[in-house]
Amino acid sequence: MLNGLKTIKCCMRFDIISLFPGLIKNSFQHGVIGKALKDSKIVLETLNPRDFTEEINGRIDDRPYGGGPGMVMQADPLIKAIRKAKENSNHPYVIYMSPQGRHFNQEKAIEFSEKEHLVIVCGRYEGIDQRVLDKEVDEECSIGEFVVSGGEIPALLVMDSTSRVIEGVLGDPSSVMKDTFNDGLLKYPQYTRPEKSCHGDVPEILLSGNHHMIKKWQLKQSISKTRKNRPDLLKNKELTKEEEELLEEIIREEKN
Ligand code: SAM
Repeated sequence: MLNGLKTIKCCMRFDIISLFPGLIKNSFQHGVIGKALKDSKIVLETLNPRDFTEEINGRIDDRPYGGGPGMVMQADPLIKAIRKAKENSNHPYVIYMSPQGRHFNQEKAIEFSEKEHLVIVCGRYEGIDQRVLDKEVDEECSIGEFVVSGGEIPALLVMDSTSRVIEGVLGDPSSVMKDTFNDGLLKYPQYTRPEKSCHGDVPEILLSGNHHMIKKWQLKQSISKTRKNRPDLLKNKELTKEEEELLEEIIREEKN
């Protein structure tokens, strides 16, 4: 549960180590993260392990010892790239994007946003030489129980959600407080103009101007949606008296 979330400091550095730096840089030219980069609320640099190899033709991979399919990224260029990135601050924290890592979630995003400097290592092929993990990586981080072809998309997800909770990145900091997961619930349904359309009408309560009743309705909707889509979240949440009453109301209404 993330009650009491505070947005944190105003500048954080990301160094992303990837064989496809263009994929990283091009992805953050738009939207709130693009603006945060332009406004120097966050800093992003990429390092390509190919620039750190001494092998001809920029080779950075080789066959796995013991056999098996595919290629493995070699330790030396990766370790050199990580060490170079680490020079950019006094407190670097290195994560390796990996399906074998601990699951990334909103809580992790907040934890990472408290760091001064994240160095994110993106694997490719069959992954990376274990010695990189042993020597340089603080944490392995997974975006879910599936395998994608490279660590770049996972790294972009981590950087985006970590950046959102840094002070000044979102125009309205209360957006973070009201995001799904922040209080252990999914966000309530939202509507915008027009009030009435061929697709349906906006619930009347939202037009009433009664802020107390609107808040109560939103909380009830949040509880109801969480119960439907993510009952696991509701099970783990310590409910307030008001939330308990609303949950009982929802259950009663379902029975009728
Ligand atoms: N053979 C590896 C295994 O079984 O664990 C998977 C390698 S995957 C094809 C290539 C790279 O994609 C990984 O090194 C990792 O950086 C990234 N990757 C794949 N799935 C991921 C996930 N769920 N979360 C984070 N990174 C992932």
